[in-house]
Amino acid sequence: MTAQRTAQPVPLEQPWAAPAERVVESLDVVAADGLAEAEVARRQRIHGANRLQQIERRSALRILADQFASLMMLLLAAAAALAFALGHTVDGVAILVVIAINAAIGFFVELRGTRSMEALHKLVEVDARVRRGGSVARMPAEGLVPGDIVVFEGGDLISADLRVIEAANLQADESTLTGESVPVDKSVDAVDAQAPVADRSSMLHGGTAVTRGSGEGVVVAIGLATELGKVSSLVARTASEATPLERRLQTLGRRLIWATLALTATLAVVGLALGRDLALMLQIAVALAVAAVPEGLPVVATIALARGMWRMARQNVLVSRLSAVETLGATGVICTDKTGTLTENRMTATRIVLGSGEEVALDSGEEIAPGPVEWNAPASGGGNAPAHPGSPSAAHGALLRRALETAVLCNNASLDPGDGASGTGDPLEVALLAAGRRAGIDRAALLAAHPQERAEAFDTATRMMATFHRRDRGFLEAVKGAPEQVIAACAAVDTGERAQPMSASAREHWLAASARMGEGGLRVLALARRELASPDAQPYRDLVLVGLVGLADPPRRDVASAIDECRAAGIRVVMVTGDQPATARHVARAVGLRVDDASGVAHGSALGAGGEHPELLDATIVARVDPAQKLDLIAMHQASGMIVAMTGDGVNDAPALKKADIGVAMGQRGTQVAREAADMVLMDDAFGSIVFAVRQGRVIFDNIRKFVVYLVSCNVSEIMVVSLATLANAPLPLLPLQILYLNLITDVFPALALGVGPGDPRIMSRPPRPAGEPILTGAHWLAIAAYGALITAAVLCAFAAAHYALGLSIRQAVTVSFIALAFAQLLHTFNMRDAASPLLVNEITRNGYVWGALALCTALILLAVHLPGLALVLRLESPGAQGWALALAAACAPLLLGQLFGAASRRRCGQGSGIRSATANSR
Ligand code: ADP
Ligand code: MG
Repeated sequence: MTAQRTAQPVPLEQPWAAPAERVVESLDVVAADGLAEAEVARRQRIHGANRLQQIERRSALRILADQFASLMMLLLAAAAALAFALGHTVDGVAILVVIAINAAIGFFVELRGTRSMEALHKLVEVDARVRRGGSVARMPAEGLVPGDIVVFEGGDLISADLRVIEAANLQADESTLTGESVPVDKSVDAVDAQAPVADRSSMLHGGTAVTRGSGEGVVVAIGLATELGKVSSLVARTASEATPLERRLQTLGRRLIWATLALTATLAVVGLALGRDLALMLQIAVALAVAAVPEGLPVVATIALARGMWRMARQNVLVSRLSAVETLGATGVICTDKTGTLTENRMTATRIVLGSGEEVALDSGEEIAPGPVEWNAPASGGGNAPAHPGSPSAAHGALLRRALETAVLCNNASLDPGDGASGTGDPLEVALLAAGRRAGIDRAALLAAHPQERAEAFDTATRMMATFHRRDRGFLEAVKGAPEQVIAACAAVDTGERAQPMSASAREHWLAASARMGEGGLRVLALARRELASPDAQPYRDLVLVGLVGLADPPRRDVASAIDECRAAGIRVVMVTGDQPATARHVARAVGLRVDDASGVAHGSALGAGGEHPELLDATIVARVDPAQKLDLIAMHQASGMIVAMTGDGVNDAPALKKADIGVAMGQRGTQVAREAADMVLMDDAFGSIVFAVRQGRVIFDNIRKFVVYLVSCNVSEIMVVSLATLANAPLPLLPLQILYLNLITDVFPALALGVGPGDPRIMSRPPRPAGEPILTGAHWLAIAAYGALITAAVLCAFAAAHYALGLSIRQAVTVSFIALAFAQLLHTFNMRDAASPLLVNEITRNGYVWGALALCTALILLAVHLPGLALVLRLESPGAQGWALALAAACAPLLLGQLFGAASRRRCGQGSGIRSATANSR
């Protein structure tokens, strides 16, 4: 360690070529303690944040400016200019006010949406385990500085360039950097100074992932100074990119604009031909165009999506991609893990079948050993001579000890001190340690006597794990793993007295024994060992089987109801597990997953071989699946037109998580690599959370659909009212400024309220929306046209009746049609309920925002008519009590008629009117 502290430590130019101690020293840090907090703060000031990409915060000013960069604003500006040019100063000013109000509303809505999106992105940031001030803690990787000591293990993402200073079986996937997809070995040893990045085995680079092993490293470069930083330029990225849904809404909006522009141009020509005032026709054209533009669409969609994301975040579901929210609602198949998602992942070793054929209960609560506690008659002789029940011989006591020792040696977990069963590491391995402890076998003591020389890590493809230990004479290989694999690798069985060769029939017998234990829901591991002369031998050869151990893992309590919900919602749940079929079937039954006896269970080996496998599409359980086979399963379901969600937790699951439409990673159990690849992270690992997220996805899509139908039908009614009057050469029932005012009110508040509604409580009792279904189907367009026509008819009738029947002046009659249209649009909100829901108590009437919006809009309409100044500008005049009554009656007509038609058509074809039947009819 350098005695005098330099102003800034000088890192070595080529840390991969220098000895690890030299690198650590050059960075002025003690590896065992890490940097002191004060020093970290100092270095952060010098080096800045460890960031590759600047997540650009959209500034408030930018958002404000964006409000004016739209076609609608352009049109409005043109209208204002026109008004001033024609000397209609009041109109011109009024339009400018409309522009200001529009911009203000858009600004606040979008600012809120954007900020909440940015906050959500913070929740999914990568962190690192760092040693500082003598202790290791998890912290955001953004705060790393050169000299930090990072502790890592398999599954971690590396977020800065590290010089490896400690390594055990370390391997890393550097494909992001080098394109090489095979994981490469990493070690402490220095390499040649000229080695290219791909050969620097003493370095772990930012952006790569640790695939196995564990170790420590010292940070030598952060941010843009890392190898990844050098190849990727600093790209500004906004936290929220437009999702497909938002883009589709933008497209829809643009189409509507062009259609209206064409229509208004035609109208203007017709109007002029009929001898109408040029200036008025131009203003009408502009107002209509503005009225028709559903500019609010993408903004309201963003708000709806962001709110949905927050609601999910509060329920332990982090969605890392906004577009996943809309995909979620269309999910047709959920492929789920078994262990930890459907079960608690709280394991207890309950029984062990020894090589002699005897079965020992491990969970009797009493001490086990030196002689076993309880002896059962073997379930089947199977060629192994059983000892007399109840008389544990010394040989069998020794056999039980050998089995438990194997399980304790071949283990990466550790138990907490005391005599409980809790510990850290894989719960399965903790359970084995706990069983060992009850038999008086302590891992630390055992390791002291038999130091571990090397290990073959558990691999989901081989489903086995081995450790190699030094003994007095020679070495010992301890193996545990899936019975199929271990038994296949065994050449003999340890029966206590001596080893018997493993015959073909004995293999059959042991596989049957494993299946029998699995039928009781136990997770079964085979234990085996081998005496060796050298610790470098190939693993998994000529093993001697010592026994099978069964572990219980209780099903999660909330799963059964979530699975019922999926069934009602037409979503298939498929259990995809590395475990054996018998265990999987039992767990499935325990959580209420219905498994067809004939075709319900498929084997993973059927996947990946290519060819057609119709039975796999029908299977409820796919057992003994390895991560690569998951890809084929996803592809198969996707090819059948399904949106597929897939859970995963391991490093190897990343490709499947990416391939699935919705990749779901586990927040507790999952590796960083899996979380990074996923669209969604379950902080509580619970299956129920997936179903909750799907429900939210459906609600959000439904809400968006509702306000689109609402907005478009309102706009259609405005266009039709003015067009018909123009074509009929009748007095105009609505004036341009009135249209602008109405549009400002109805386009914003009720639409926003619909966008954030709670959703239909029975939303999970319909089948999933077909993948790729447009936002508006043909049936929706039909509904829009019908509602638009109803509202138009009501308004025109009110106008005519006010003028001819009540004898009101044109200005008062216009006011009547204005009021009628305004309230008809507000009441139209109630047409947006689900057709099958009760008339009075439904998702719309239960939505507090709707009532708030209606109250606010009513006040604004009253002001327009009765506030002298405003009424003057809008050219409105109180129509008197009769006029009001007429207007309100006309406003109620579309709602009543809509509900009547709905009821009639429901009776006729068993379906209802409104949004939902529009969906149903379109199928
Ligand atoms: P699951 O789908 O239940 O999560 P895994 O892929 O984790 O299954 O495990 C598959 C099989 O691999 C298990 O049934 C078990 O036989 C074996 N196995 C799991 N964990 C270990 C381990 N730590 N050591 C040895 N074998 C294991
Ligand atoms: Mg697992």
